[in-house]
Amino acid sequence: MIRNRVDVIILGQGIAGTTLAWRLLSAGCTVMVLDRGDRITASKIAAGLMTPITGKRFAISWDWEDFYSAAAQFYREIETKTETQFFDELPMLRLFQTAEERQTFEGKLSRLTDLVSSTRPDFKTFQHAAAEGGFEMIGGRLHVEEYLKASRKMFQSMESYSECSVDVQTEIEIQPNGIVIPKLNLTSKHFVTCQGFQSTMFPHFDPVKFNPAKGEILDIKTHNSNIDRVIHRGIWMSPRGKQIRIGATYDWSDLSNEVTENGRNWLTSRLNNLLSSEYEIVQHQAAIRPTMKDFHPVLGAHPKMNNVLIFNGLGSKGSLMAPRLAQMLTNQMLHQTPLPRNLSVERWFRTDPEN
Ligand SMILES: Cc1cc2nc3c(=O)[nH]c(=O)nc-3n(C[C@H](O)[C@H](O)[C@H](O)COP(=O)(O)OP(=O)(O)OC[C@H]3O[C@@H](n4cnc5c(N)ncnc54)[C@H](O)[C@@H]3O)c2cc1C
Repeated sequence: MIRNRVDVIILGQGIAGTTLAWRLLSAGCTVMVLDRGDRITASKIAAGLMTPITGKRFAISWDWEDFYSAAAQFYREIETKTETQFFDELPMLRLFQTAEERQTFEGKLSRLTDLVSSTRPDFKTFQHAAAEGGFEMIGGRLHVEEYLKASRKMFQSMESYSECSVDVQTEIEIQPNGIVIPKLNLTSKHFVTCQGFQSTMFPHFDPVKFNPAKGEILDIKTHNSNIDRVIHRGIWMSPRGKQIRIGATYDWSDLSNEVTENGRNWLTSRLNNLLSSEYEIVQHQAAIRPTMKDFHPVLGAHPKMNNVLIFNGLGSKGSLMAPRLAQMLTNQMLHQTPLPRNLSVERWFRTDPEN
């Protein structure tokens, strides 16, 4: 059974839709989350890593402190509400690939001290891959599938979830005083598309320019039982139970969920430099990250239809960014709190480049 009148319909139960649903419920709204239950989505295969220092230039992730503290607090709260464990705060190891990388890091270290451990990490397990050394940094990890599953169960128990596919071109009626999905006999005050890269299909958000990026990952098994933390060295390795997730590739040309030989080879060639023990590949998967042309998330109400909203563009940082952004969107919907210009969907509708 599902409700037939709610404050907000959310289309998509990935990280975006799930996190927004929790924020709206906490603010006292009624919601209906609709998802067609695709077996593989960006959220379902993501490693959920929250990494403060990234890339060859050791850049601090944008607004790290605010995003991370909001995320950690939010996931802890939802763990309590769902009585499930899906969030870890854990130190991560970053190994330098070259002497130049190490020198770049050393030049920046004074600006990174809050994020980097002052004690020298133990490289024993990766001696052969750590000739240039490395460092340990703080970090977090969301077990995304568990988070989605536990949330879905709670939404179902509140009659706030339905598994179904909605054709956004033909099955949604947008009226000035509300949204109607006739086939579900469902009406709401607001509608939010949280469809990941599939939001490109939503006709009213046509000016929003996506630049989706396919990502492939491997799950492996190895007898090396000393791998107890996330390691970064060209790729990342994230151990969980008896398996280790390895990722990830970026490809902007092929937007299918098909895995490729190239993707597998790219990952294994880097893995072979990092892991000296034998391993077995047990799973190879691919999904599409919803990335925007300007690399910023996109949220807010359509400029001409304030009851139709979007929450998207989480790119490769969905777990880190979703909790704070979902709160911003909730505040806009309920209290008309303005959104930062670089995140607001309105930026895609402006015709005057000065604005
Ligand atoms: C290989 C890979 C590794 C990643 N690793 C990380 C990581 O370590 N850390 C991190 O933070 N992020 C990571 N990401 C990125 C992260 O996964 C994304 O930012 C996030 O999943 C985006 O979530 P979303 O809810 O916007 O989209 P999605 O996960 O795509 O969810 C959209 C949902 O909408 C549903 N849907 C779409 N259209 C319809 C419709 N018409 N009717 C009904 N339902 C519909 C889909 O079934 C889906 O469930 C990774 C991504 C990939 C691909």
